[in-house]
Amino acid sequence: MPINSKVTLCGAKARRRNGLPCRQPAMKNGRCRMHGGKCTGPKTKEGKLRSAQANLKHGLYTEASMMERRRMQEIMKWRDELNEI
Ligand SMILES: [Zn+2]
Repeated sequence: MPINSKVTLCGAKARRRNGLPCRQPAMKNGRCRMHGGKCTGPKTKEGKLRSAQANLKHGLYTEASMMERRRMQEIMKWRDELNEI
């Protein structure tokens, strides 16, 4: 099938084609519908926050709980050091 040369091609590195550029027609942002043409994720601060909230499972790896654990480890270390004296 000949491709219309006026159409901009996506050109993303395609894994299915052994790393050759993708030949799908590109959308407005220069990528095809499979390589980020339709949507590239939330843009606004509110959107990003909403996405993060929607994807939060248990919060064990949030910055706050990581900090908390790190602090606890530090305290345990001090405790052990004091016990050694
Ligand atoms: Zn593509």
